[in-house]
Amino acid sequence: MTQDEGRAHELARRLRDVDERVRAACARVGRDPEEVTVVVVTKTRPPHDVRLLAALGVRDVGENRHQEAVEKHAACADLGLRWHFVGQLQTKKARAVAKYADAVHSVDRGRLVAALSHGAVAAARDIDVFLQINLDPDAPPGRGGAQLADLPALADAAEAADGLHLRGVMAVAPREEDPARAFARLASISARLVSTHPAATGVSAGMSGDLEQAIEHGATHLRIGGAILGARDLSG
Ligand SMILES: *Cc1c(COP(=O)(O)O)cnc(C)c1O
Repeated sequence: MTQDEGRAHELARRLRDVDERVRAACARVGRDPEEVTVVVVTKTRPPHDVRLLAALGVRDVGENRHQEAVEKHAACADLGLRWHFVGQLQTKKARAVAKYADAVHSVDRGRLVAALSHGAVAAARDIDVFLQINLDPDAPPGRGGAQLADLPALADAAEAADGLHLRGVMAVAPREEDPARAFARLASISARLVSTHPAATGVSAGMSGDLEQAIEHGATHLRIGGAILGARDLSG
């Protein structure tokens, strides 16, 4: 077996493991696994891994840094993948991200909505937007995620913005809290958003370590890195 085949086998096995976890979690709460999209977060991994993943049937990939994402997208442009930007995003980079991202999961302020909208219109593209909520009351400001009080205005802005589709909410479970509790809060935030923005039914929640809890609390998009790609170095 070549090194390449070895890596492909490893990725296939890890994809199957995650798929089984998703199916088991869905079965426990009576959900259809088809409702759950696995976004494979390929940050820190080479374009070749993206290529192997695409050959294994992966359709959605995620990145958290613009510079890395733009290069990988260019190297993999022929694969017909959907590119999800999941990391904190500086306003000044939003226009550039709008050229290749199909979805941005980390929209947490009005200026970012405006910048992404400009970029989407300029590129004649449509971008799905998830509003990132800060679920950690103790987190210092600026760590990513809107405060709950700011969500209604942010949702209205995203809904009205040309080139953007408001898809729903996104959050990362705070490190100190039981993820099930955090995702239960996110589920009620999502329900409130849907009551005013009926199309915004998406819930981007759940990573390698807490995808079960996320599915139990209604996640529609999982963002999975390590469980599929293997451990990465801490810089990621
Ligand atoms: C890296 C990353 C993930 C994936 O995390 P894993 O624990 O490796 O599954 C999900 N969401 C965001 C925002 C990330 O930066």
